[in-house]
Amino acid sequence: MPAAQKGYFMAKYDLVVIGAGPGGYVAAIRAAQLGLTVACVEKEAKLGGTCLRVGCIPSKAMLESSEKYHEVGHTFATHGIDVGKFSLNLGQMMARKDGIVSELTDGVAYLFKKNNITRYHGHGRLAGPGKVAIEPGDGETIEIETTHVIIATGSEVATLPGVEMDWDRIGGSTEALSYPDVPGHLVVIGAGVIGLELGSVWKRLGAKVTVLEYQPRVLPGLDVKMGKRAHSIFKKQGLEFKLGVRVTGARVEGDSCVVEAEGMEPITCDRVLVAVGRRPYTDGLGLETVGIELDNRGRIPVQEHFSTSASGVYAIGDVTVGPMLAHKAEEEGIACVEHLLTGYGHINYDAIPWVIYTDPEIAWVGQTEEQLKEAGIPYRAGSFPFAPNGRAKALGSTDGLVKILAHKETDRILGVHMIGPRVSELIAEVAVAVEFGASAEDIARSCHAHPTLAEVVKEAALAVDGRALHR
Ligand code: FAD
Ligand code: NAD
Repeated sequence: MPAAQKGYFMAKYDLVVIGAGPGGYVAAIRAAQLGLTVACVEKEAKLGGTCLRVGCIPSKAMLESSEKYHEVGHTFATHGIDVGKFSLNLGQMMARKDGIVSELTDGVAYLFKKNNITRYHGHGRLAGPGKVAIEPGDGETIEIETTHVIIATGSEVATLPGVEMDWDRIGGSTEALSYPDVPGHLVVIGAGVIGLELGSVWKRLGAKVTVLEYQPRVLPGLDVKMGKRAHSIFKKQGLEFKLGVRVTGARVEGDSCVVEAEGMEPITCDRVLVAVGRRPYTDGLGLETVGIELDNRGRIPVQEHFSTSASGVYAIGDVTVGPMLAHKAEEEGIACVEHLLTGYGHINYDAIPWVIYTDPEIAWVGQTEEQLKEAGIPYRAGSFPFAPNGRAKALGSTDGLVKILAHKETDRILGVHMIGPRVSELIAEVAVAVEFGASAEDIARSCHAHPTLAEVVKEAALAVDGRALHR
């Protein structure tokens, strides 16, 4: 425990980071690398934030395990593997997931030690200019001084009016990552990223899954063509969708839940996952002590280089404007700290990849066709399916395609959209291409190993110029 926590003296740091999620902990490490004295305040016992504890990592562990379970029952036989009788050991699946989370959160604690970052466990808040107060939960308050503060307090589950959350049967993603048994019938409210990822997990493990979505389509932010393709694939997998549905209420009744929506008979089910977005988390942060006001969506507004309206106070990650993604938070943390020390910090919001880890995966970077049309930007599109690709056939995963959108005159890549096997990895190539301002021709002329899924990216780039080879 740091000396300041024992009340011996008021510690002073160059930088205090509030929140140890991917934004906060990475900012703390980068600042320490650059020679600052750094403290990080985290209210949870484990470091790593939403992402490591109850977000990216446990959800991907469950996606992976449930995919394997599904494969044993559905695709092993086609490979000539007869496994006979098999069964689900959900306890072991959860234990594996929890083990991965622990390894990674312990890894952050190790990195803090290695980089001499002082860790404070407790709720942190601004206590006037240059001061941060910490409440460890034992009734005491510790105050520390600092030249700079980075707020990286992340986000929390958004709820819906009329939906009575008991944070058990009617809960959010955190509950859905730890159900004690497979629900007979799970209703998911929201066909966004969490709804489809966690809906897929429980569908594969045997639940009937009904997804209720307010918009007339699934994944509303996605390129329309890719969204339609995704919808039809998920339907084939057995997920049930009710689109254009406005949920008006949900409540627990005995051992069941009842979900009500306009124009629909009430649904009785075993569990409800509310996945209608996340909202910035700023509870008890003392923003008023330095004069920071939230915007109309509850976010901390930032100007250039993540500075807030208060001198020396910065905000990064989910708590501020922009996509709620772990890698966006990380990049902002690094750019914020580097700008503070060197006067230069870089983040290119046009080159931030998105990935949805369903099966098949969905990934994209840059603009959609609809956005380009709306902006009046002339473009050429080239697409190529996974179906004829040798590696995809060997994997037994041929659903999907890659679509590249390039400027009609300059050929510069403006957007890339993928649905298919392992596109979470393929998207890195095109994110780098977008960052470097590459043309579709650049990708088309680059040698891609054979047989790989990446050949589909090359073919899509060739298709922009109407000269795909294997079609
Ligand atoms: P957070 O990770 O939310 O961290 C904020 C931290 O601040 C928390 O640990 C919190 O306890 C702490 N804190 C808050 N207030 C205080 C305070 N006053 N004092 C002290 N500590 C405080 N993103 C991806 O890019 N890829 C994915 O695959 C992905 N999967 C996800 C799956 C799920 C189920 C969920 C819920 C989210 C997922 N996300 C994913 C989103 C990702 O988790 C967030 O974008 C990311 O964690 C944001 O990082 P952050 O550092 O801004 O905030
Ligand atoms: P989301 O914004 O992805 O999807 C929410 C969905 O709920 C939308 O389709 C929206 O139209 C719908 N909706 C909103 N109100 C509704 C209502 N009243 N009735 C029915 N549907 C309604 O949000 P999410 O899935 O909760 O995820 C939150 C965020 O977490 C994501 O936006 C993303 O930033 C992050 N996340 C990322 C990943 C990843 O990168 N793989 C995974 C999980 C979460």
